[in-house]
Amino acid sequence: MNLRPVHAPLTQFSVHDDCLQIGGMSLTRLAQRIGHTPFYAYDREKIAERVALLRQHLPDEIHLHYAMKANPMPAVVQHFATLVDGIDVASMGEMKVALDTTMAPENISFAGPGKRIEELSSAIAAGIVLNMESEQEMEQIVRIGEKLGICPKVAVRVNPDFELKSSGMKMGGGSQQFGMDAERVPAMLERLIVLGLDFEGFHIFSGSQNLKVASIQEAHENTLQLGMRLAEKVSRPIRQLNIGGGFGIPYFPGECDLDVAAIGQNLRRILPEVRQRLPETQIVIELGRFLVAEAGIYVCKVLERKLSRGQVFLITDGGLHHHLAASGNFGQVIRKNYPVVVGNKVYKGKRETVSVVGPLCTPLDLLADKMEMAKVEVGDLVVVFQSGAYGLTASPTAFLSHPLPVEVLV
Ligand SMILES: *Cc1c(COP(=O)(O)O)cnc(C)c1O
Repeated sequence: MNLRPVHAPLTQFSVHDDCLQIGGMSLTRLAQRIGHTPFYAYDREKIAERVALLRQHLPDEIHLHYAMKANPMPAVVQHFATLVDGIDVASMGEMKVALDTTMAPENISFAGPGKRIEELSSAIAAGIVLNMESEQEMEQIVRIGEKLGICPKVAVRVNPDFELKSSGMKMGGGSQQFGMDAERVPAMLERLIVLGLDFEGFHIFSGSQNLKVASIQEAHENTLQLGMRLAEKVSRPIRQLNIGGGFGIPYFPGECDLDVAAIGQNLRRILPEVRQRLPETQIVIELGRFLVAEAGIYVCKVLERKLSRGQVFLITDGGLHHHLAASGNFGQVIRKNYPVVVGNKVYKGKRETVSVVGPLCTPLDLLADKMEMAKVEVGDLVVVFQSGAYGLTASPTAFLSHPLPVEVLV
């Protein structure tokens, strides 16, 4: 017996007549409307519900930012612009998309190592906040500001002196290409004041895809403590303390939804002290994946059902070139299946165990390995859930020169 662990039921999308519903219509109808597979579909209501969930559980005074590298589709980013308090960008391309939305420039921040002169200069002209990642960058910012005759708005990105435990991807603690080591920040602050930069505050981001409430709570405690210690080195109150995010979502069998209420309670416990020591400071949480991943699906069509020595392969028109993460090649150590269903045959009909593959000439092009799903026919629609973040733009679309998928916000 080949007993495979089953995914937690994903109930964010309803099912009518055995067909998945998204954006108020059936998947089949949406596929007809788009007239092309594969596609990514993002549900605007699910995105809004996600923001509402956080607003409900996090203390009111916490500001919420969208880290748009998770999903930079312009319509999605504009949608977020109406829902959250700020947008975090990490390149000039992302900055353009963010500035095209209705979000005010002072609520847009730019992080990332190795920012180029053109990027810094555009950002300063735009009036967005630059999260400085090194002394070299700070000196460059000053020179560009002088040349443009504009006082740059800056924050210091801090590489904390602790690690985010149980994080899928660590981006803080130890040696890092990100941010300024915490112990070197005081010296940088002195210089920053001398240079006359418009100082916003600190940005402390320590990791991504964390599903352990206790480690997120611990990180919040440590981050706020570090932020308060550093803020005491500045002569005037800091405007903003960005404590990062890293909230995870369940992808694989055995994983569960993050308990946002418990995270909110913990923040409520710490905030009185923060209010006392930093009465004028906005506390910001920035999230990408948690806000958008579960609102998106990737849909491809079955081109062929192939039997090889007893194993069924569904060959589809989608694959790792559009969805690297679902193939298991985007940061995963051991390949596990994303949740996959036949979107037009969700629950009913005969079941069988199949592997879903794409058209690429590589065995890595695997969307589901020996998963149980409805028995399909050519033309049926295979759906990969949890695909709203780090999907299309985190994939090698040029590999094998196949056409690009369509993206829709419904
Ligand atoms: C990637 C990134 C994020 C978003 O991380 P998620 O895990 O998608 O929430 C937030 N802040 C910074 C600085 C990042 O680089």
